[in-house]
Amino acid sequence: MKKIGAIIVAVSVSILVFLLVYDAVQIKTATTEFFSMNTFISAKVEGINAAEDIKKIESTVEELDTRLLSRTADTSLIFKLNQNGEITVDPEFAAQLALLADVSKQSGGAFDFTLGAVSDLWNFGGTPAVPEEQKIADALLHSGIEKLEISETSVKKNDSSLTVDLGASGKGIALDYVKSYLDSGRCEKAVVSVGGSVLLYGKGEFSVGIRNPFGDSSSSIATLKLKEGCISTSGTYEQSFEENGKLYHHILNPETGYPVENGLVSVTVISESGLLSDALSTACFVLGTEDGIKLAESYGAQAIFITADKTVYTCGSIENYLKLTDSDYSFAEG
Ligand code: AMP
Ligand code: MG
Repeated sequence: MKKIGAIIVAVSVSILVFLLVYDAVQIKTATTEFFSMNTFISAKVEGINAAEDIKKIESTVEELDTRLLSRTADTSLIFKLNQNGEITVDPEFAAQLALLADVSKQSGGAFDFTLGAVSDLWNFGGTPAVPEEQKIADALLHSGIEKLEISETSVKKNDSSLTVDLGASGKGIALDYVKSYLDSGRCEKAVVSVGGSVLLYGKGEFSVGIRNPFGDSSSSIATLKLKEGCISTSGTYEQSFEENGKLYHHILNPETGYPVENGLVSVTVISESGLLSDALSTACFVLGTEDGIKLAESYGAQAIFITADKTVYTCGSIENYLKLTDSDYSFAEG
């Protein structure tokens, strides 16, 4: 009897140990949705530490915004730069700013992260309205990347009224920070979306919808099959308003201070780097299809341009992986 009892205990202990070990190595899925960086953020993670990964993604984005990127939080470096005129930066942030300055230069100034004073006049985040022409002209005088000195340790403004605005690249920068965290852990697969920028992380193929520029956020006009990387879209639909029957959107022409009018309604850029996918989607939008394609290619990125007349232009080999699902849209000929 004693022997049978011992066997039963041993078997029970083995089952318990097996269940504990099995549970510990089991791949789990966790998700989150939250609001930060003035935009909606969602993440889905698969891995043995999925719940922990999700918490870390949330804190990484929050921390990045309050420590570095926010225009409004007085704790952030960008706020301090705008306020005090000079900041000390770590090598990582210095390199990111230098890359943004490079995109600005390569785009001939079309990408300009010193347009904050002009953007503020349009007030897209609040109650937007067309500003007075003279005010736009005055604010434009206090913009231009050449008025910033970026070194490996500091950033200095040479014009106290200049306002740095990383709105066109911050979402992509956030994806790069999230990616470095995931690289250090045991995440198998993740999809992290920060506004219009998405990180596809892990092995295998991802299917991504290209948003309908004239529909709501759940409506798409094409599906794209991608391996891991970052994909960002700049679209007129993101922030816009109508005044006297005319539509005004938030992507500004740095030469005029008014919304870009070149027939485009959205530009999507795919790159390994979140920063580049985000910055280039804005830059390519401002440049227009022809010069935008040249810019994207010069950074080894791929891009999809959609015009108001529903024509789709692509660069790189992306057309092979893009399937139009809305018959109103067609690929450009040639
Ligand atoms: P995105 O949605 O990434 O294209 O970023 C658009 C945001 O970038 C706007 O809401 C502005 O804050 C800022 N922005 C507008 N025009 C430009 C521009 N020409 N270059 C850089 N940033 C811009
Ligand atoms: Mg952008």
